[in-house]
Amino acid sequence: MFPARDRSSPASLEYSPAVARATAPLYERVARVVPEMEWPIHAPYIAAINALKRDLNAVILAHNYQTPEIFNCVADVVGDSLSLAREGAKTSAKIIVMAGVHFMAETAKILSPEKTVLIPDARAGCSLAESITGADVRLLRQRYPGVPIVAYVNTSAEVKAEVDICCTSANAVQVVESLGAPEVICLPDEYLAQYVASRTKVKIITWHGHCEVHERFTGEQIRLLRQGQDNLVVLAHPECPQDVLAEADFVGSTAGMSDYVGIHSPKRVVLITECSMSDNVAIQYPEVEFVRPCNLCPHMKRITLPKILHALETMTTEVMVAPEMARRARLSVERMLAVGLPRA
Ligand code: SF4
Repeated sequence: MFPARDRSSPASLEYSPAVARATAPLYERVARVVPEMEWPIHAPYIAAINALKRDLNAVILAHNYQTPEIFNCVADVVGDSLSLAREGAKTSAKIIVMAGVHFMAETAKILSPEKTVLIPDARAGCSLAESITGADVRLLRQRYPGVPIVAYVNTSAEVKAEVDICCTSANAVQVVESLGAPEVICLPDEYLAQYVASRTKVKIITWHGHCEVHERFTGEQIRLLRQGQDNLVVLAHPECPQDVLAEADFVGSTAGMSDYVGIHSPKRVVLITECSMSDNVAIQYPEVEFVRPCNLCPHMKRITLPKILHALETMTTEVMVAPEMARRARLSVERMLAVGLPRA
């Protein structure tokens, strides 16, 4: 049981014997990736957050790219952005704290309009989601009349509200082909759209959005990683450029990559995606050696334990989506769910 925090006392965030005892099992879980000297800093926040979320009937949703102390020690639900929003909606909690970026909090609000959705740092954005607006989508409709528009879930609520259907990185090809159209606009990720184009006969019209984390990987970097590393298995996210995907042994979503490690138990693996994901998957599969080129998402890393505690203590910052926009955005998500949702 986590001791409740006395907010009037500065000592309440100290690494007391009670906090050490209450958090010891959690440290065992993350000891492989969190240095022992860091634990006295994290533990008081972890204890306070876990006590407060219980009192408030709140749940914390943590994306795969969150740091191990958030992902493993305070989160109630973990996963990709869509699974977080869907699982959050199924809970009886009144309050959702999104340990992720802003579009993810919006997606949670779209699927849980009756719940209070909080984001611990309202500046946690996303280069991909911010590459396109609802007005851009309306202009695309004028330029390509009658061409269906598919939006990756990494988009704002206003973009989801303007498009015909959403997709994830796992079901993008399936969604595009379900439309039965000779050409489809696939936005905003240019590289995901190129990946889809390489796997379908449907003509794909792309947008020029990129994830600033995945676009930094290069094919040359993968070739260098392989040098002298016998049996290195390379798993890459489809938000990476095509020359990276060409070097990979497997291309898949975050869930797909995690499943691949579980099913195939490679001796040595590298996940070509955001850095913290390797830490979180490594905890699940201690027998696998992870090679870690570290590209951090600066937006995801705005979310910290102190900010999660502050969000719960102050009920800030609440994420709102206008009801009509939320209704239309929800339709785009529901159309995608009707097509299907494979994990890889
Ligand atoms: S990793 Fe890329 S897609 Fe994900 S939040 Fe960061 S910038 Fe956006």
